Amino acid sequence: MALREILVWPDPKLKLKAKPIAEVDASVRKLCDDMAETMYEANGVGLAAPQLGLQQRVIAIDVEQRASGEGPDATPAKKKGEGLVWLINPVLKLGEGEFTYTEGCLSIPDEYEEVTRFGHIVVEFLGRDGKQRRIEATNTLLSVCVQHEMDHLEGKLFVDHLSALKRELIKRRMKKLKAQRELERKGEATAL
Ligand SMILES: [Zn+2]
Repeated sequence: MALREILVWPDPKLKLKAKPIAEVDASVRKLCDDMAETMYEANGVGLAAPQLGLQQRVIAIDVEQRASGEGPDATPAKKKGEGLVWLINPVLKLGEGEFTYTEGCLSIPDEYEEVTRFGHIVVEFLGRDGKQRRIEATNTLLSVCVQHEMDHLEGKLFVDHLSALKRELIKRRMKKLKAQRELERKGEATAL
């Protein structure tokens, strides 16, 4: 497995539409594993291949690392990897109702905003083993995460659901962050 670099928005590659995976072969399984490692390293619950600059319809999700619910319905957090799923060529078969959740994104560090998406979803996809699978989720981190990551495959980010004003403010902060990171990178390169 290998860690890969996560692109930070704004980046033209994040706006590209991803192409379907023709066959789940060894290279796709390698990508799946790299994506999981990269996602965990960044402390994320979801990652889509376009965030690594790859126009492929592959998503890694593990929302079970987070505790969910309250009282008798509460589910404790699981260990990283126990709730890991990969969604290859996901298709939204049903989306209904509305659910609002405060979202973040590994490509937009430290920014969190409320986004309203479908509440109930049914999504069909291929797993890492190439077998057809299905997820059904209602008003949960999973239902939010699946839709957030599927947006990435269309070149869409959660900021595209916000007002133009909010998006511009976040864009300004991200450009500053990227400039700062670039300086640090250059600094590291010369500090011998
Ligand atoms: Zn994201």
